[in-house]
Amino acid sequence: MKKEATEGQVARVLSKVEAMGLKAHLSRGEIRTIVGVVGDNSAVEVGTFECLEGVERVVPLLGPYKLASRDFKKENTVFSIDGSHIGGKKIIIMAGPCAVESRDQLMETALAVKKAGATALRGGAFKPRTSPYSFQGMGEEGLKLLAQARDVASLAVVTEVTTPEQVPLVAQYADVLQIGARNMQNFALLNAVGESHKPVLLKRGLMSTIEEFLNAAEYILSHNNPRVILCERGIRTFETCTRNTVDINAIPVLKSLSHLPVMVDPSHGTGKREYVPAVSRAAIAAGADGLIIEVHPDPENAMSDGAQSLRPHEFEALMNELRPVAEAVGRTI
Ligand code: PEP
Ligand code: MN
Repeated sequence: MKKEATEGQVARVLSKVEAMGLKAHLSRGEIRTIVGVVGDNSAVEVGTFECLEGVERVVPLLGPYKLASRDFKKENTVFSIDGSHIGGKKIIIMAGPCAVESRDQLMETALAVKKAGATALRGGAFKPRTSPYSFQGMGEEGLKLLAQARDVASLAVVTEVTTPEQVPLVAQYADVLQIGARNMQNFALLNAVGESHKPVLLKRGLMSTIEEFLNAAEYILSHNNPRVILCERGIRTFETCTRNTVDINAIPVLKSLSHLPVMVDPSHGTGKREYVPAVSRAAIAAGADGLIIEVHPDPENAMSDGAQSLRPHEFEALMNELRPVAEAVGRTI
């Protein structure tokens, strides 16, 4: 309350709190009075109190998200993606091309990443490109190739869904539905993947705060879909030497604020193949539960993101480099 708040104004705040079915705890200091509000405040609009006379400030003590928070669930969320568990001791590696381009490109990549130790195959069939003139993906044809590659290489498939209408189709083929960075706050899409009950790989938006990111996850969880993976994929900063800036801080911050598994995408995070290994090592050292890495058999001729894609032998070398790092932090790959 304001310093000069009257008894009448304090009383009006208390009766408003009680009328909302919440409890008020009054704390009277020498200079000012503080009203603590306790209870399920999910339906409470902060503005309702802010405009009452005598109120100085309303300070929410709990974050706006609930199901995604560590306060709500203490233990790490661990779930299976086609038999491999994410969120536990084992670090999950998803790898594959940015986009599905052809049967040969996909099969060659799938077999190579499997041999190197990946657990899932990534590949976009619907590509959300910054320019409408760039390759938009193969669509359902690409999904069919992904399903074939899953059988041939025994890998789970993660692929992006870009509209709510696409969810039923993509869910028929994918083991994990990817929400791209540009769609992190596409609330209709978040609701649709929440309804689908497939695991979701949610990428952090280019310009999103961690709180906005966790609120996006909350949309999916609020539909009773608990299988959400948070993916830090780099945010936009003033830096121009790299495509984005991987927010390594986000890894421990997300792990502390939330129980959900956290992955890192060093490919989109750096935009340059040469930086992918170092950032992958850093992510694992900082506590990431998995990595998603772009791999292409012929990056020079890739239809998207060739510059950041590792060649299969480079991916294999990286996997070998990551194992001792994982071991050093008590994890396995
Ligand atoms: C991708 O994974 O190919 C992709 C488009 O990623 P992002 O949404 O993070 O840009
Ligand atoms: Mn890409």
